[in-house]
Amino acid sequence: MTKYEVRRTLIGQLPYGADLYDGLTEIVQRENIRLGRVQGIGATTHAAIAYYDQNAKKYNPLEFTGGMEILNLQGNVSIRDGKPFVHVHILLGDPQGKVFGGHLLPGTKLFACEVFIEEFWESIPSGEDEELVRAYDDRTGLNLWNSGYLV
Ligand code: ZN
Repeated sequence: MTKYEVRRTLIGQLPYGADLYDGLTEIVQRENIRLGRVQGIGATTHAAIAYYDQNAKKYNPLEFTGGMEILNLQGNVSIRDGKPFVHVHILLGDPQGKVFGGHLLPGTKLFACEVFIEEFWESIPSGEDEELVRAYDDRTGLNLWNSGYLV
């Protein structure tokens, strides 16, 4: 089993009006963060998320057009198609405090967002390929990591 430690942490904000998914992708690709963790809070003016239907093997989109709180943004960075790729899930709170959530899609526009992005690296080479690379998984219909099983 490969073991990793944090190499660096980027802490900052994304600007008003930015697309959350595209902004995170731009950061990890610019910084060449090939393995990482994304965490954040903030608010959206428009949110685009999805629920993955396991039987139909497709994402069903959901949109929230009013202002919503980003109660939690949690995700990871790995490699897909040779490039750093973000996979993020988000919890959104409405004006009554009700919570909705799902898989983040492009099209989520920010009111504000404060993010921490941790980059991991293999501190002691294991001799195994340390990169987690996404590949199509027939059983789930998802692009999952092709290694890194812990059990
Ligand atoms: Zn997801």
